[in-house]
Amino acid sequence: MAGSGCTDRVIGAILGSWRYDISAISPEMRRDYEQHLAECPRCHARQRFHRTLDGSLAVLTALSMLSFLFALAVLQRVKILEHVAFNILHLEVVSMYQMLVSAAVAGLIFSLIAFLLVMTTTPAPTYLGGVARDRARTLEARLPESIRSLRSRS
Ligand SMILES: [Zn+2]
Repeated sequence: MAGSGCTDRVIGAILGSWRYDISAISPEMRRDYEQHLAECPRCHARQRFHRTLDGSLAVLTALSMLSFLFALAVLQRVKILEHVAFNILHLEVVSMYQMLVSAAVAGLIFSLIAFLLVMTTTPAPTYLGGVARDRARTLEARLPESIRSLRSRS
């Protein structure tokens, strides 16, 4: 039973409706929710899941944009070869090229829109920044006590 249910269903439901993102609310209102996220293993796990999802979406859409950019770069090269084919071998491949470019441009635009949606509607930017901060914090926690006390004094 331990760890399976939410310790406070009311707060849990509110957090659920926000997709466990409390970055938009004021710091004094945030305190209760932060405390619950720290105490409730279920909500904590769900928050982690949602932030990982946001982060993955941001990375995936960025990768998608890169692959379409790569496709456009490849097609740019194809155009040079095609020019040779068209003028020397008299092949009719221009329309095929145009079709591929249109598809790549459309794909690039769609993934750009998806990427912008992910970055504006989810806390992915904060999450990705937080991942870096957490790494730093974990490193700091491993420092010997003598060094840590020096750091907190400054
Ligand atoms: Zn909970």
